[in-house]
Amino acid sequence: MQDVVPAGSAPAGWEGVRVPRYDRDEVARAAGYASWQEAVGATADLSQQEAARRLGVSHPTVRAWRADLGVGVAAARPSGEQLKAAFRADASDERHGSANGYRNLGCRCERCTGAWTGYQRARRDVGR
Ligand SMILES: [Zn+2]
Repeated sequence: MQDVVPAGSAPAGWEGVRVPRYDRDEVARAAGYASWQEAVGATADLSQQEAARRLGVSHPTVRAWRADLGVGVAAARPSGEQLKAAFRADASDERHGSANGYRNLGCRCERCTGAWTGYQRARRDVGR
């Protein structure tokens, strides 16, 4: 475990700047790492902000470094469509049988369709 270089140890004016590739190693070494790849690997479990503080760079820089190495890409949040598909594929999800399941999550299973029909009927009845 290296000593943590305090935030603000980046060269003046470098915060918020996308550091050119040839300077990445210099920045990483200032933070106590042998190379920027090692720095990215060693801080991969931290949030971008946390890693940025640790390395003395801006968090967009951390994001760019990680993107270049493919770090954290697989852990990216699933898209809304992926979440909906996962919900529809999981019959044990307790949201089945709700108007939300039908309308917002796009499920057309018997339970969701039934819930939606009931919801629509209830709405109509209120208007009478
Ligand atoms: Zn459903």
